[in-house]
Amino acid sequence: MILPGILPFVRELIDRCLTEGDIAVDATAGNGLDTLYLAKKVGDSGKVYSFDIQLAAIEKTKARLKEHHLAHRVSLIQNGHEQAVTCIPKEELTLLKAAVFNLGYLPSGDKSITTKGETTIQAVSQLLEIMQSGALIILVIYHGHEEGKKEKQKVETFSAQLDQREVQVLRYEFMNQVNNPPFIIALEKK
Ligand code: SAM
Repeated sequence: MILPGILPFVRELIDRCLTEGDIAVDATAGNGLDTLYLAKKVGDSGKVYSFDIQLAAIEKTKARLKEHHLAHRVSLIQNGHEQAVTCIPKEELTLLKAAVFNLGYLPSGDKSITTKGETTIQAVSQLLEIMQSGALIILVIYHGHEEGKKEKQKVETFSAQLDQREVQVLRYEFMNQVNNPPFIIALEKK
């Protein structure tokens, strides 16, 4: 296929944005797959801050990182991503190059614990405020479940009203797939 799938496209965007020594955020650690990918990209001189409200997700991510000998590149924080700007040291906040929000619930976990539109937007707008030119926020939106439908609407409305002089907003979506397939909204700070 010429057109990459949703998750491969997330990785392409990360590859275009991050390099050795960068600082990145995984806003939803979950099973740790995105955190691991980010940790590989930033190298030993970089840093990843990885958030999740669930201890189970933090532990899964910790185990995955240990397995790959990359735990030293990541700060795992059991807290909501809406607290990210208060948890990351000030001097690193302005160096932040990328943040990934893989929204929804932990696939293997409690499906009632899911990201929510209000807190997602709170986190995204705080990060956008402090990020420098060229920094990227990637949101993967899952809207097959009830909370996901509400979150989709909120994130779409928020993203569409951003000033094009300040932020580039991309939507990447397969329009003819059945069963509410996930799609990407990517925000690049100008
Ligand atoms: N990126 C993950 C991976 O690679 O496996 C998948 C993430 S999963 C789809 C969504 C995660 O978001 C869940 O683990 C859930 O606990 C977490 N979550 C829900 N609300 C959150 C919040 N306010 N802040 C941070 N994480 C949250």
